[in-house]
Amino acid sequence: MVSRIIPVDPFDLVIFGGTGDLARRKILPGLYRRFLAGQMPEDARIIGAARSELDDDAYRAFVRDAVDEFVRPDRKDVGQIDAFLSRLHYVTIDAKGTGGWQELAGLMRDGVIRSFYFSVAPGLFGDLAERLHDHDIADADSRIVVEKPFGRDLSSAKALNATLAEHFNESQIYRIDHYLGKETVQNLMAVRFGNVLFEPLWNSQYVDHIQITVAETVGVGGRGSYYDRSGAMRDMVQNHLMQLLCLIAMEPPSRFNPDAVRDEKLKVIRALEPVEPYQIVRGQYQADADGPSYREDVENPRSLTESFIAMKLHVSNWRWAGTPFYLRTGKRLRARASEIAVVFKDAPHSIFGDEAGHHRNILTIRLQPDEGMTLGVTIKEPGPGGMRLIDVPLDMTFAEALGPESEEIPDAYERLIMDVIRGNQTLFMRGDEVEAAWSWTDPIIEGWEARGDAPKPYEPGTAGPEESQMLMHREGRRWREIR
Ligand code: NAP
Repeated sequence: MVSRIIPVDPFDLVIFGGTGDLARRKILPGLYRRFLAGQMPEDARIIGAARSELDDDAYRAFVRDAVDEFVRPDRKDVGQIDAFLSRLHYVTIDAKGTGGWQELAGLMRDGVIRSFYFSVAPGLFGDLAERLHDHDIADADSRIVVEKPFGRDLSSAKALNATLAEHFNESQIYRIDHYLGKETVQNLMAVRFGNVLFEPLWNSQYVDHIQITVAETVGVGGRGSYYDRSGAMRDMVQNHLMQLLCLIAMEPPSRFNPDAVRDEKLKVIRALEPVEPYQIVRGQYQADADGPSYREDVENPRSLTESFIAMKLHVSNWRWAGTPFYLRTGKRLRARASEIAVVFKDAPHSIFGDEAGHHRNILTIRLQPDEGMTLGVTIKEPGPGGMRLIDVPLDMTFAEALGPESEEIPDAYERLIMDVIRGNQTLFMRGDEVEAAWSWTDPIIEGWEARGDAPKPYEPGTAGPEESQMLMHREGRRWREIR
């Protein structure tokens, strides 16, 4: 199979926050990989912008180190690094000040796509948008990319949308959620809407329930003060888990285009039944030999913020009436694993009897660490001894199906940045989606705050608090193992 790399049009990409953690770990290494893949045209340029006093050479040295550290050795081409670095420039700029803006304006070229990645704190988005406009740096075809968190509740998200809308149309704003850039997430849409096999079964008649798990082994690390003001609901559920839920639950869009897809996702969020705050399991990790407790990590001995969450949701429409969606996410859990499991119902009648054993079909969409999809199907255990049934996974893992080419699959950030240059917003969140998601989460968070509920403690290295297991057990179901 020969992969088709289609170069994008010439561009100037300005990375505000070009010296920050995200730029160093994800954005710049990702751009280097797209360069190696041949997707960057000859005259594409990348301009780092931040307050640090650097010149082009010093910035190139910074990016060389970033590539060294964050691109796997087998994915590097040492001979190409200088060619990549020659595309890079740097401007010292203050988002809130006046210095650097004229220089940036002078650097921008006509006739190429101008994109601006806001990889800075959200408090600076408005300043950047305003100055780009005032200095005539952004034109009607320019794009801006904004990072999460997109607000911390409905009113702040609305304010942020309004600020950006003063200078940019919705079609120019790319709200990034890197979960949507994952190969498997897009493959989920291909599997659902490119085959006749799944869609007829994709409803409450055949699906018993759906589980979405995003488990991390790490604690809050150096992000303690930010995280303690957010918690798992704001940091993970309102954006990443909600987006995954939308892709699983949405109706088939009429076309695979940005507004058709996002209209359908929005309908899912709007169809979510409200959940009472007390119905949600919240947890906080304790200390163990490997690390401090959540409260120690965030240096707040009385913190009531959750580092774990588990909940049951209902999508109130014809397709999903009666099928629960279970979502959970947490830090310092047993393994780093993100997956969606679509658990189908039992066959209506077992002709083989109980002794043959019984298995359910489960479609598993794994986002990390190894992206891939498997469908568990029941077959006869080979050999003599009568009819005994076993469950075998039909593997749709990319490494298997695509062989060495799967090495070339771009990671989420790479793909999404190229989508920005192409002007394709399908995998980015629209302003109304973000607001609808906050509308659903706000009353829950307000309820917790009003009640002063303390999250349940849980042992690190486990699957979270016992109450999370109970959420499933009392309905005769169980979570899939985190491994
Ligand atoms: P960071 O490491 O703190 O970097 C912030 C960047 O902004 C630096 O380059 C800093 O450089 C620049 N900056 C700060 N104040 C500035 C100003 N007034 N004018 C111009 N530049 C300024 O933050 P980060 O982790 O890269 O995160 C950037 C954004 O991405 C945040 O919105 C964050 O929430 C989001 N995000 C990050 C991650 C991640 O993994 N890091 C993941 C998801 C989302 P100077 O100090 O030199 O100005």
